Amino acid sequence: MRRNFDRRDFLRLTGAAAALAAAGCATTSQKARVVVIGGGFGGATAAKYIRLWDPAIEVVMVERADIFTSCPISNLVLGGSKTMEDLRHSYDGLRRHGVQVVNDEATAVDAEKKVVKLERGGDLKYDRLIVSPGIDFMFNEIAGYDAAMQTSRVVHAWKAGAQTIALQKQLAAMTDGGVFVLSVPLAPYRCPPGPYERACQVASFLKKNKPRSKVLILDANPDVTSKGPLFKKAWADLYPGMIEFRGNAKAIGVDVKTSTVKLEVEDVRGDVLNVIPPHRAGDIAVKAGLITANNRWCGVDWRTMESTAVKGIHVLGDATLSAPLMPKSGSMANQHAKICAAAVVALVNGQAPNPEPKIANTCYSYVSADEAIHVASVHTWDDKDRTLKTVPGAGGVSSARSTLEGGYAWAWAVNVWQDSLG
Ligand SMILES: Cc1cc2nc3c(=O)[nH]c(=O)nc-3n(C[C@H](O)[C@H](O)[C@H](O)COP(=O)(O)OP(=O)(O)OC[C@H]3O[C@@H](n4cnc5c(N)ncnc54)[C@H](O)[C@@H]3O)c2cc1C
Repeated sequence: MRRNFDRRDFLRLTGAAAALAAAGCATTSQKARVVVIGGGFGGATAAKYIRLWDPAIEVVMVERADIFTSCPISNLVLGGSKTMEDLRHSYDGLRRHGVQVVNDEATAVDAEKKVVKLERGGDLKYDRLIVSPGIDFMFNEIAGYDAAMQTSRVVHAWKAGAQTIALQKQLAAMTDGGVFVLSVPLAPYRCPPGPYERACQVASFLKKNKPRSKVLILDANPDVTSKGPLFKKAWADLYPGMIEFRGNAKAIGVDVKTSTVKLEVEDVRGDVLNVIPPHRAGDIAVKAGLITANNRWCGVDWRTMESTAVKGIHVLGDATLSAPLMPKSGSMANQHAKICAAAVVALVNGQAPNPEPKIANTCYSYVSADEAIHVASVHTWDDKDRTLKTVPGAGGVSSARSTLEGGYAWAWAVNVWQDSLG
């Protein structure tokens, strides 16, 4: 949520970005200036690690929100076991590392002049640019979505924040016996297991508070896209008769008047309509000319995270054209950021980046307030196919859900917030 530009912002901007922008280049004691767009899992981690690994590099991070709000754990706010406060983290940790945090919107990138334009004015010159804007939604793929959004009756809550609160309120207001419709887009989308975790959390809330109600998952994919058998067992054991899954059920429209989600073959009525539209890389990636695949995603060289479309610009996180079997996750964005930070530090210092990076992903999902399951994978550079590929036999899924994993899941969240922002 944006807030008004105030005196503190002005001082911060004049003290940090604008004064340096006026100088037009890095100050003499600095080796280079790196500008980062986006203070989510990718951008915040890259900003912090560049400062940690070479404090002589100046890092300016542009983020439209004045506080970080985590999507991981946000489904638990719907379940009722966590609050919005649990998701929010300040950017002060980054400031302590010397990152200059500019609370503004990046509106354009001039890759030739190496300049980022800001909404409130003031251009930021860079030597290298890192773009980690997350996703934006392709609302036009679902007829009626724009109009439905105006009424606030249909939300996605797929960027944690105001819509998470709105969805929680709709859930709390739903009559007992009502139907919560959760529409899942075709993969690839942000956080493959996220929708199924959400189904569990909504069902957990309903079981306690409105036990005659149902969760209906309308999935554009043929089957559950992640941890399928574990989710299905949790649904059957913990919420018998409450969660119905329909595959190949792609939403093509929504209508608030009839309170329906339109599929190719039928209209499905629900009391709460939680429709997640298909996504693409965030708008600024489009404006910067970084999109290389399907009008949606940004191709990168996985050894440096440098864009394959525009030299000198690195792209991280959900905005990237994922490597084979690589999920769009906070865990991955945090790891992309470390490949990128190491490569940027090497390049600025005239060294060769690591030619064979290896990264790992773990995604936990809470199936109740305290039990969780996980999926893990390891990704390594493959010189023949010039991409990151999963290491056979490394990783896998939980053998069963457990409260022990519930503890690990919370520890994962606390650690990744600390690693990215602390
Ligand atoms: C319900 C849900 C549950 C999830 N659970 C998990 C989980 O358990 N584990 C996991 O690993 N992942 C999880 N994820 C996925 C995870 O949230 C994303 O993969 C991750 O946030 C991607 O990081 P990112 O840096 O690419 O984007 P983001 O974290 O979205 O960060 C992008 C940032 O850029 C800013 N921004 C964008 N454009 C501009 C601009 N022009 N100017 C200024 N600022 C800009 C945005 O405000 C935002 O802060 C979940 C997602 C959802 C929706």
